[in-house]
Amino acid sequence: MAASKSGATLATPCISRLRLRIGRSRGSFLVAPGARAVSGTPSPDGAKRIRLTLKAGRMEATEAQIGAGEGKKREAEKKKNKEVAADCGCTELNPWPEYINERLAMYHKLKAEHDLLLAERAAKESRPIKVTLPDGKSVDAASWKTTPYQIACGISQGLADNTVIARVNKVVWDLDRPLEGDCTLELLKFDDEDAQAVYWHSSAHIMGEAMERIYGGCLCYGPPIENGFYYDMFLDDGCVSSNDFPALETLCKKIMKEKQLFERLEVRKETLLEMFKYNKFKCRILNEKVNTPTTTVYRCGPLIDLCRGPHVRHTGKIKAMKVHKNSSTYWEGKSDMETLQRIYGISFPDAKMLKEWEKFQEEAKNRDHRKIGRDQELYFFHELSPGSCFFLPKGAYIYNTLIEFIRSEYRKRGFQEVVSPNIYNSKLWVTSGHWQHYSDNMFSFEVEKEIFALKPMNCPGHCLMFDHRPRSWRELPLRLADFGVLHRNELSGTLTGLTRVRRFQQDDAHIFCTMEQIESEIKNCLGFLRAVYDVFGFSFKLNLSTRPEKYLGDIEVWNQAEKQLENSLNEFGEKWELNPGDGAFYGPKIDIQIKDAIGRYHQCATIQLDFQLPIRFDLTYVSHDGADKKRPVIIHRAILGPLWLSPQQVMVVPVGPTCDEYAQKVKQQFHDVGLMADVDVDPGCTLNKKIRNAQLAQYNFILVVGEKEKASGTVNIRTRDNKVHGERTVAGTVERLLQLKAARCKNSEEEF
Ligand SMILES: [Zn+2]
Ligand SMILES: [Zn+2]
Repeated sequence: MAASKSGATLATPCISRLRLRIGRSRGSFLVAPGARAVSGTPSPDGAKRIRLTLKAGRMEATEAQIGAGEGKKREAEKKKNKEVAADCGCTELNPWPEYINERLAMYHKLKAEHDLLLAERAAKESRPIKVTLPDGKSVDAASWKTTPYQIACGISQGLADNTVIARVNKVVWDLDRPLEGDCTLELLKFDDEDAQAVYWHSSAHIMGEAMERIYGGCLCYGPPIENGFYYDMFLDDGCVSSNDFPALETLCKKIMKEKQLFERLEVRKETLLEMFKYNKFKCRILNEKVNTPTTTVYRCGPLIDLCRGPHVRHTGKIKAMKVHKNSSTYWEGKSDMETLQRIYGISFPDAKMLKEWEKFQEEAKNRDHRKIGRDQELYFFHELSPGSCFFLPKGAYIYNTLIEFIRSEYRKRGFQEVVSPNIYNSKLWVTSGHWQHYSDNMFSFEVEKEIFALKPMNCPGHCLMFDHRPRSWRELPLRLADFGVLHRNELSGTLTGLTRVRRFQQDDAHIFCTMEQIESEIKNCLGFLRAVYDVFGFSFKLNLSTRPEKYLGDIEVWNQAEKQLENSLNEFGEKWELNPGDGAFYGPKIDIQIKDAIGRYHQCATIQLDFQLPIRFDLTYVSHDGADKKRPVIIHRAILGPLWLSPQQVMVVPVGPTCDEYAQKVKQQFHDVGLMADVDVDPGCTLNKKIRNAQLAQYNFILVVGEKEKASGTVNIRTRDNKVHGERTVAGTVERLLQLKAARCKNSEEEF
């Protein structure tokens, strides 16, 4: 299955451009068509959306994805799961389900016939072949006899042991599968992306085997994903609980210890329909997805699975495995189909790597913005408006501070802020192309017998603004900025914290310019971006995506624009990489990824050229030589994803009740100049506890006031990192904090 770039089917930018990566599954039947490993999905105009495991279309309710408002329901579900688990006890079934032995008997017969055929072939058809290694050396081998594993052993046993999978003529190939002719051969280790996918895919078979032996249900799809793998199973009754994980892991480890060989067997489709008659899902796959007279199954131990492979040599190659998450889902993500149980796992060739992965998960959990949002009372979600955030006072402070910041930059950089409607007649979306390609993701409704919709992006509205009167070259570049509220109809099951929402705003801007102005405008956009990210201390990387195979418009226009983008990137001076052919069909783009606190990269900003929208809206300007039908180019750009600024700048802590009144007064002085200040007069708390609480709540500055400070009009300052700045006057402190705030200082606590 080739990865489809959904961008290529969309009519305009500013539509969620999901970069789909099905590729990891390398054509295995075990891959659910609905299940796509999406990495770093750039959303409209670049709003940040971090790693999600699915595309709209598949309902999934993992714990992580349930918003805070649904906590109660989750508790109830957990309780129910527990009862089921207590009932089933979750141990290996004894005896195994009948289908296991029946399937195995049929397999043995077929395998014997197949081995005979292979032996005959090896005897009759084998001839000398040349195998070329990556360093250019070639090795002599015999077709239908020599395997990649044998060649690896010939080089060194260590290499053979560390090789996960072979790549023969650029296609991944089982290490024990005989070569069929002259070929190139690469021996891939775990650090190779293809090898990792094979490794995790093989691990999914191990977990599938354990699931059959414990639950006895019908296995469905079990693909590798961005990090690890999952396997779906249909259970007649009952469901999987996280209480089952230890039993599953124990059985997986037993299977790993047994070093069960992965055997490959090619079988006729009719025979396979007989072999899998107990499992309607595998039969569906055979009937709907297999168009060839034969296909392959793989065996490890008692599991025989419909699969194109390849796999690691045996189950012992998996050294460390963890079952870490479960959820329920639907067959192929369709909510009118059967409900399935999904179990997620991860595995590594080394126990140390698993430990590191676990540590990273823990870290990510603590840094999860949903946890921070809850803990610091910044915002919440409610089931009565899924995917639409309620920003509490502190969250709203951050929100507004960000908008003010960008606004001040707009003024400096020649952008003009506009306000545009939220609701448009669907005719607008027909013109822009959204109606044809994106209407499923828009909220629409009838008004006076016409269909209207909430805007999912600002660009079409800005095109109307450009077009409402004749434009002259003198006005270009025209830079329109909009903080308008946008809505997208994402499936409720796919909503995630602030990273996948239905309602959002962004620092959305569109630049209408001439072809010749592209280079300088892009340069300005990059400079803008650097200025903003510098304030937050973000480092970032840049990618230039160029003309895809299927593109619209004049190739000369593309070449000229790409040249200008390259020039501006080179002049910008940061490192950038080229993604040839990865641009949208309507224009090339620059993607910007920023690095988060624990080193993960997130798609945050996009600068996208658009040659098509001006054509769809028939936008023109009068050029300086009098030509009145010149086409402008549109640059879509947005810089910010959801980022945080401290809404808790100052906490005043009185030493005792006699200082409470003074503490209140101090707090008021900070509050009056627009700083975010609180006071802790809880009598049930010791001084040290109050300081500790304020530090945990991430107040930047903690001001302790006692009798001495009260008498002299001062405060005693320490920071959230427990750096002590000592006694200062209240007025002096207020002034210093205002300076630091105005300078958007990154480390005020140090600089103070
Ligand atoms: Zn497989
Ligand atoms: Zn746009």
